[in-house]
Amino acid sequence: MSDADMTIDPSDIDDSLISLNARKVIRRLNEAGYQAYLVGGGVRDLLLGLTPKDFDVATDALPDEVLELFRNSRAIGKRFKIVHVRFGREIIEVATFRAAAEPEQADSGLILSDNEYGTLKEDVERRDFTVNALYYDPEANVLHDEVGGLADLKARRLRLLGDPEARYREDPVRMLRAIRFAAKLDFDFDPETEQPIRRLAHLIQEIPPARLFEETLKLFMNGSGVECFERFRDYELFDWMFPAARQCAEDPESLRIMELALASTDRRINAEKSVTPAFVFAAFLWPPFVDEKATLVANGMPSSDASHEAANSVVADQQSVISIPKRFTGMMRDIWQLQFRLPNRAGKRAAALAAHRRFRAAYDFLIIREDAGEDLDGLGQWWTDYQDASGEKQKDMANSLQTGGRGRGGGAGRGGGGGRGGGNKADGNRADGNSLGLNIDGNSADGNTLGGNSAGGNGGGQNRRRRKRGKRKPKEKPAGPPISGNV
Ligand code: ATP
Ligand code: MG
Repeated sequence: MSDADMTIDPSDIDDSLISLNARKVIRRLNEAGYQAYLVGGGVRDLLLGLTPKDFDVATDALPDEVLELFRNSRAIGKRFKIVHVRFGREIIEVATFRAAAEPEQADSGLILSDNEYGTLKEDVERRDFTVNALYYDPEANVLHDEVGGLADLKARRLRLLGDPEARYREDPVRMLRAIRFAAKLDFDFDPETEQPIRRLAHLIQEIPPARLFEETLKLFMNGSGVECFERFRDYELFDWMFPAARQCAEDPESLRIMELALASTDRRINAEKSVTPAFVFAAFLWPPFVDEKATLVANGMPSSDASHEAANSVVADQQSVISIPKRFTGMMRDIWQLQFRLPNRAGKRAAALAAHRRFRAAYDFLIIREDAGEDLDGLGQWWTDYQDASGEKQKDMANSLQTGGRGRGGGAGRGGGGGRGGGNKADGNRADGNSLGLNIDGNSADGNTLGGNSAGGNGGGQNRRRRKRGKRKPKEKPAGPPISGNV
């Protein structure tokens, strides 16, 4: 046992949180004569008493040797092969120790290829934070700590291994990971780890857009989205990831919309309800979308053309930084366009709108706009009442608008009165709540509604200052039917 090895006090790790399958993998690798450890976030979370999201195993066995040992395994990754061992729904990721040795680098310091297998000691060095570089052998109950990770963990300190600037340059995603872990674990940054972030934030541009999409999900769809967002803005990373929203985020009402969308998403995740990133992206890009549309309209373009054109241009600009899959950009557009249609609800239109497959998300978005301070003349409340009303009453509500002054246009605008609401009662189908649910990783639609309508705060147009959340009791909404297939 080396200096870096220590037998863990059994009370430091709750055995019952360790996946039996991960244990099985480690045992079998050991029996075949290989070293194998739990590593990374799994060990970190175990030591913090948290339930790990997943378990990674590091070993000196080569990928082909791992494949031979496990029937239900397959190699993934081109640049660096790792093996996924599948047990039903659980996947244990097994990676061969990797060397950080002289990887091929671009001028900026970005790693282009690092494909060498190495020893445990080398593997430690290529990890990002000290608390992510702990190796745990659950069979022997031994923790391997080469870099003072346990001390940092106990001090709740996030410290990058090696020279922070060089490590951020090698892989700028580490800046996003730093933000995410600090927010999720409520850790402080080691000063040297924190210091270069603002100065190097521009390196975000070097991250391939597809990878940046994955990282954006991890940042904002992990249940601590609001905390991540605050740090994210503070360290000026937001400006590089959402360039179009950069200026808008200075406007308190626009900022509030973003925060409320994230707060709603956090609440749903923490209640284990399904969520869609489209809602968060729609909120981030709503202000530039509205501005762009207003410019086009001012230049003489008809409103509905301007809506489509503005959505196209805002989405296209964003795609050059973060590649948002089409299924999500489609939802974003629907959410946006429906903001201009929801005021036009007289007569049969109300029922048609309520039956739109994105009605539910659009309604939630409308409520968030109002909660952020936009004065929509009671439109959100009208739709809330409509969904709570019986079929007959819904018809009355919609018809009385028709006779009493038609469904009025109006629309969405930043910082000002949009569509005008008001109106009374009637009939129609109960809004069925359109499902937008899907797993965060985008694997499958699992069929719950996107919800969390009232993201807290109070409506009303005057007070645009940040308000304490949760003043208003969230309204109950009917849940949507489960759906499957594409969302
Ligand atoms: P999470 O709880 O989000 O899964 P994690 O630390 O396990 O956190 P993973 O992305 O699963 O994060 O990565 C597993 C481990 O791989 C990390 O703990 C870290 O040791 C290493 N790692 C991941 N990404 C990087 C990176 N960009 N640079 C260096 N090491 C990394
Ligand atoms: Mg992990």
